[in-house]
Amino acid sequence: MFVTTTRRPAFVRCKQAALGVGVLASLAALVPGALAAPRPIPETTDDARGLPIPPVDRSRDPVVVIAGGTLIDGRGGAPVANAVVVTQGDRILAAGPAATTPVPANAARTIDATGLYVMPGLIDLHIHFTQQRCHDFGKYSDSPAGAAIRGVALAEQLINAGITAARDVGTVDDVALRIKEAVDRGIIRGPRVLWSGRIIATTGGHGDEVTSTATGRQKPGFGGPSKGFNGPWEWRTAVRQQVRSLADWIKLGAPADKEELAAAIEEAHSLGVPVAIDSYGQYTDWAIEAGVDTLEHPLLMSDQAVPLMKKHGTAFVPTIGAFDNLLTGGYPTAGIPTGGFYHTHSRRFVIDQQDHLKRVGEAHRAGVPIGVGTDIPFENDTRYPDAYFRELDYLREAGMSNAAVLASATRVGAQIMKMGDKLGTVEKGKIADLLILGANPLDSLKNLRDVRYVVADGKVVVDGPAR
Ligand SMILES: [Zn+2]
Repeated sequence: MFVTTTRRPAFVRCKQAALGVGVLASLAALVPGALAAPRPIPETTDDARGLPIPPVDRSRDPVVVIAGGTLIDGRGGAPVANAVVVTQGDRILAAGPAATTPVPANAARTIDATGLYVMPGLIDLHIHFTQQRCHDFGKYSDSPAGAAIRGVALAEQLINAGITAARDVGTVDDVALRIKEAVDRGIIRGPRVLWSGRIIATTGGHGDEVTSTATGRQKPGFGGPSKGFNGPWEWRTAVRQQVRSLADWIKLGAPADKEELAAAIEEAHSLGVPVAIDSYGQYTDWAIEAGVDTLEHPLLMSDQAVPLMKKHGTAFVPTIGAFDNLLTGGYPTAGIPTGGFYHTHSRRFVIDQQDHLKRVGEAHRAGVPIGVGTDIPFENDTRYPDAYFRELDYLREAGMSNAAVLASATRVGAQIMKMGDKLGTVEKGKIADLLILGANPLDSLKNLRDVRYVVADGKVVVDGPAR
């Protein structure tokens, strides 16, 4: 269903070559001395770039066993009653029915999950750590340090809700990168972070307006000097700058010229980095045809957009709630009235909830991979994590089943992140990002709110009981 990337650097594909090792080994037996023993395959980083890293020794890490729960492993099969999941370090060693999954004698800890449900951690594909809280912190909106502090608070909210991976698609300075590093090193609690640096836009485009996209109010200093890029080579250069800054993803913003979009997408792909776009109208069609990896938002989509996404293997991250919030009350503490984004050049259309739901339903029926993203711009302290669960309800409203929505929140989300080989299911060899719930989420998505334990990168970061 989902086209995995063929654009990663060639060395990542060496992992697949390991499948051939057995054949080589048997050849070696026939021709003594012809081939040495199979060599270890290096591991790669846990992000979309997949950079080779030195071998990791997990043999002395504690073994944790989760026993007796019902396992929803995320692969789409029936739940497994009385299951056992074994982790060591950040990896899953084994997962399956108790009858066929031995419990190691050296377990440092056993979590009794009797009566509980074990599933993969949730994924939010569209956040911004820098976005606003209520008025308590809004006055520091232009400060990178203020943005980082807000981001640390948001990271905490996400992980407590079982959201174990998040993609930041537009940040200030290096805020998202530093949050990613701080989570990796255990300095702060939070989801694993993938980030896309700064939004690449044209002069006056989304991200380079003289007024705020949301409020329409003039930015300090009339927006300051332009940070926009113009022409295919400037867009290529902007991509290279983001990759130089260690971005895992590239984020583009419409409007832009057809050649600019194509140049940026080609450049990113040639460097092995996937691309997301915040877009609308004809720009969306151009970006899809140029091979963009994810379309963010369902804004003003043409009738060709979904068929084009199907044809080109584009994934869709609709972020329906961020726009429905505007239509059903606005963001009062930010002074944004009910109805939509007013007076902005990069949102020159009317926001239409029914059209958004229609496009998402159409994409789902066409087999376009759909991921869960929230993108709440204001009032983050009160709207998260509720916004994530509400987004799942919107996907239901668009015509997806509970099982399909859960897949979007886990396995499909991981594939869209370009991390389907490491995240999104509970399987031997994958990273131990797990959620343990008090009730079955397949019966009702509301049960996702009944979080008992969260395991992130192999560590128990939310440690029962019900909260
Ligand atoms: Zn966004």
